[in-house]
Amino acid sequence: MKLPVLVYKGDKLASYGFGDPHPFGLDRHDVFHDELAAAGLGDAIKYATPRSASVDDLLLFHTADYIDKVSKMSAEGKGYLDDGDTPALPGIFEAASDVVGTTLAAVDAIMAGTAKRAFVPIAGLHHAGRNNAAGFCVFNDCGVAVEYLRKQNGLQRIAYVDIDAHHGDGMFYGFEDDADLIFADIHEDGRHLYPGTGAAEETGKGRARGTKLNIPMPPGSDDSDFQMAWSRVEAYLDHAKPEFILFQCGADSLEGDPITHLCYTEQTHAAAATALCRLADKHCAGRIVATGGGGYNRRNLARAWTRVVQSFVEAG
Ligand SMILES: [Zn+2]
Repeated sequence: MKLPVLVYKGDKLASYGFGDPHPFGLDRHDVFHDELAAAGLGDAIKYATPRSASVDDLLLFHTADYIDKVSKMSAEGKGYLDDGDTPALPGIFEAASDVVGTTLAAVDAIMAGTAKRAFVPIAGLHHAGRNNAAGFCVFNDCGVAVEYLRKQNGLQRIAYVDIDAHHGDGMFYGFEDDADLIFADIHEDGRHLYPGTGAAEETGKGRARGTKLNIPMPPGSDDSDFQMAWSRVEAYLDHAKPEFILFQCGADSLEGDPITHLCYTEQTHAAAATALCRLADKHCAGRIVATGGGGYNRRNLARAWTRVVQSFVEAG
């Protein structure tokens, strides 16, 4: 029997954002879900409900001091959690915990065998470090998910694949010396875009040196440029043989995003999703969770994420 693709939907997820005029507004969840509903995928997708993460879950990746800081600043509801990108809005602690909990719910569902693929639109908060907020990201749901898969499920070699326009610095530096975190990130060259990291020479450190793949792209890169870079990602993942794939499919790498300079179409997101399903089927019983990541042009994020879900459905 074909399993449905799980897609997470609900107020808990929709409440993570920073309101108008912040680029990471509160409308992104509904814009995506309207487009997905219009795609008419019927029984091939199944809606699933977000859940909260516990402090113990957060502690799998984040430091106690940092969790405490977010909790206190969220209660006060003033200022910024970082240098001016990520406002400490009232309730941001709970909203950020809900993002993490929902990514963990997707992991649980897949490990329980009720689905092979899942999509969490408001997630993939890849700039958050173990001890800091950054770039609109409070808690790093994918970072927590890696440690959760290890602790709860006994997996070790998890792949994190990121095609957001920005480098996934929270994930890269969070696991820089961890040879078992399989990391591939295609992003706009850090000389032109926040956060400025992710040079090709950054391959990990210590015993993990040489194990990670950063591919910076020049501004203006299009689908064909992406495909050339992507062939290296596929070869790398095929060699690394992951036990689970986390996919951060940020839509800010599409042409027309207001804060980046890459020029992909949603076909890039569809092709990457299809290829990752093929690799997941070969190496890890099909297990993949995609997270929406960035994307600040609403039409782009709605279309790119919908194409990812469609590709998951078509991959079976
Ligand atoms: Zn981004």
